[in-house]
Amino acid sequence: MPKIRVTFLGTGAGASIHRAHTAIVLDLPDGTRLLLDASSGNSVMRNATQAGMQAQDFHHILLSHHHGDHMSGLTQVQLLRTRALNGGSPLEVYSTGEALEHATLLFQAIAPGLTVGPGGAVNAEGRQVVRWNPVTDGQIIELGPDTRAWSFPADHISGAIGWRIESDGAAIVFSGDTRFNPKLVEAARGARLLIHEAYGTEDDREGANRVAHSTAGDAGRSAALAGVEELVLTHITNPFHADTQPLIDEARQQYEGPVSTASDLHQLTVETG
Ligand SMILES: [Zn+2]
Ligand SMILES: [Zn+2]
Repeated sequence: MPKIRVTFLGTGAGASIHRAHTAIVLDLPDGTRLLLDASSGNSVMRNATQAGMQAQDFHHILLSHHHGDHMSGLTQVQLLRTRALNGGSPLEVYSTGEALEHATLLFQAIAPGLTVGPGGAVNAEGRQVVRWNPVTDGQIIELGPDTRAWSFPADHISGAIGWRIESDGAAIVFSGDTRFNPKLVEAARGARLLIHEAYGTEDDREGANRVAHSTAGDAGRSAALAGVEELVLTHITNPFHADTQPLIDEARQQYEGPVSTASDLHQLTVETG
């Protein structure tokens, strides 16, 4: 059976001191490899290396938003990719125009030697090493012979999105960071897998909503309303690092399908076809 392999490189919330920040790899049946978010610092490539992946194998990065815990590892991926390839095709980064403007500022600030502008980044030899690909709501982007993706607005910060990725007849949906999101419910209809953030439980719904995040109950409700086949919770905060069971229990009150929580370097497969 053809499969999509999902590898979690980072599963911690922004203030996590136990886990790497958000980065998820999808290996699709047509050979396409996608990176969803780029974590922060060097953890994305450190964990990728542990999972047997190299920077030159990352060609497409789908970015959910411009918070540091999702974006600031981009420069690390670019640096290692450019070094390894010594040329070759640029790193293709897809997100909203607003998020990519922030990515431009990030590269201008911390990637010396690159000339960075609205189109991407060019190195000292004049080679384009990063290309920004601004996307609009629902715009379909072709990423491989049988892999496409489109984004939908998230309820988090301005310019934040989630992603639906389709390959070989199966869909995986990634929430990005968001409060309970009716647009996600619509976008996730019939997906094989929903990867949804869970900032905490209903006990502190107010706290989660104040910082524009979901509870595990919200994630379960979204999974049930969308009729997805499986739910994985991620973006785990410090109080739930060691014991994620309260998050799972709460999502299960809303959703009858399989629920689990991700951990760094955890892998799972989704059957396609
Ligand atoms: Zn985050
Ligand atoms: Zn965020």
